[in-house]
Amino acid sequence: MGGPIHGAQAANLLTIPRIIPRMNTSSLPFPSSPDPGLIRFALHGGAGDPPPGSGAQPEQRAALHRVASAAQALLRDGASALDAVTRAVELMEDCPLFNAGIGAVLSRDGQPELDAAIVNGADRACGAVTGISRVRSPIRFARAIMERTPHVFFGGAGAEQLAAELGLEMVEPGFFITAERLHQLEAARRAGAITLDHDDHAFCDDDAAFGTVGAVARDVHGHLAAATSTGGLTNKLPGRVGDTPVIGAGTFADDRSAAVSCTGTGESFIRSGFGHAVHARLAWCNWELDRACAEALDSVAQYHGRGGCIAIDSRGNIALPFNSRSMYRAWVEADGLVRVAIGPGGDGA
Ligand code: ASP
Repeated sequence: MGGPIHGAQAANLLTIPRIIPRMNTSSLPFPSSPDPGLIRFALHGGAGDPPPGSGAQPEQRAALHRVASAAQALLRDGASALDAVTRAVELMEDCPLFNAGIGAVLSRDGQPELDAAIVNGADRACGAVTGISRVRSPIRFARAIMERTPHVFFGGAGAEQLAAELGLEMVEPGFFITAERLHQLEAARRAGAITLDHDDHAFCDDDAAFGTVGAVARDVHGHLAAATSTGGLTNKLPGRVGDTPVIGAGTFADDRSAAVSCTGTGESFIRSGFGHAVHARLAWCNWELDRACAEALDSVAQYHGRGGCIAIDSRGNIALPFNSRSMYRAWVEADGLVRVAIGPGGDGA
């Protein structure tokens, strides 16, 4: 037993049907025909405490706007929430401005160790992966785990073996490493710090600011989905796993409550069980989304964490709270406008 999965063994594994009981969503008002008025979308590019005066960060803003617009166009064409969040996160992984995929932060030994997760609100199907460095798109891999295996969570050498067996695009770890991240790691090592991607690297001689990425969506049928992808924390210990791939912590979705994607100090988001805490307050206590997210964020603070989340509930409300100085974000409400913000002041910096 154990060891890599090969040939016939892999074929057997991958042909085992997924058996996921359908949830009882009969109380939810899903329209029989598609309704574009139901479309909602939100995206984050990470949270942290960048140095005051970091400026308007036009490149980051443009990237957030571009990706949110692309996801909105997909949703308008009738794409599922699942497809919209997958594509949005994939585009963010390909953008070196953010801490996911290309441009991910590096662990103490100088390697990228990437985490990603996806959840489908309609049936709570999910897929997650941790600690990989050779799969081009971690979020595509998480989606493949969800749809093409009987399991939900993979890590380590077996994960990359599986990705290759599934035919996903494989790369060398160096593919993800940028000069800025090497520089940031060196500075963090010198300072003995483990940092969030957007933190004020006062010990760095540049103020490069990058972030974990995540997306949540409601589609024309009212279904919800969430996806998150990250390199974790700069100078983290090798093998460390954050909240991003922990379903119910950094990533969660349920059509009966909300879709949630988090960013911040992963350990504290895990301790607070963030995503499921929001779900429980909506589904069982009938709280409003804003209140449920604020309460969950309070518990992150109690566990000495910082960060934020993006969330959309089954009624189409959007919440984008954070307790750090900034959270890079874009969102689309009922009016269809794509809004972008970084600091606490709405559309401002
Ligand atoms: N939550 C991520 C982690 O702890 C980091 C981040 O959001 O920037 O891995």
